[in-house]
Amino acid sequence: MGEKQKKIIKTIKVDVDKCNGCRACEVICSAFHAEPQYSSNNPARSRIRVIHDPLKNIYVPVYAGEYTPAECAGRDKYIIDGKEYDECAFCRASCPSRDLFKEPDSGLPLKCDMCETDPPLEVPKCVEVCLAEALTYEEREEEVAEEETQEDLETGLESLVDKYGYQKIMETFDRMAMAKKG
Ligand code: SF4
Ligand code: SF4
Repeated sequence: MGEKQKKIIKTIKVDVDKCNGCRACEVICSAFHAEPQYSSNNPARSRIRVIHDPLKNIYVPVYAGEYTPAECAGRDKYIIDGKEYDECAFCRASCPSRDLFKEPDSGLPLKCDMCETDPPLEVPKCVEVCLAEALTYEEREEEVAEEETQEDLETGLESLVDKYGYQKIMETFDRMAMAKKG
């Protein structure tokens, strides 16, 4: 068993009934993460996407979750208000079977980072702009095993290795290390 340590658990509650499909959350998320910040906006780069069926007035905001290198074998089907949605519609993963939650230019996975920044924001950007109050933010403290804090780093590295190959990543690290020394 690893050491326990305190971790702040950040939660965004999604009230689907309140979402009106304005997509302000998509716009602000992509602008906040643009380089330089706020220089552009493009919902395809957003880490939240609003899945919608305008005819039935159903809008479901979905947050980008973990990267996965393979399509999953078991899938979920949702029926909301009598409408059956695609098997993958509400999945949070950045996965090879679809374009959702991938950086359009590089293809690298997008994952909601809760707008981590220094100094920290009071609430994540998507929550701040959601005037319908469909998104609300909560924080709590929990004890977690130390290994968990490694997970994000390993997931990011795994996706880079899948995309560029181990050799290329190692060569890049070496070059960066040399540049730092010099
Ligand atoms: S900003 Fe709020 S109301 Fe608008 S689409 Fe996003 S979650 Fe829905
Ligand atoms: S919390 Fe931040 S990173 Fe996550 S979807 Fe909202 S705006 Fe994007």
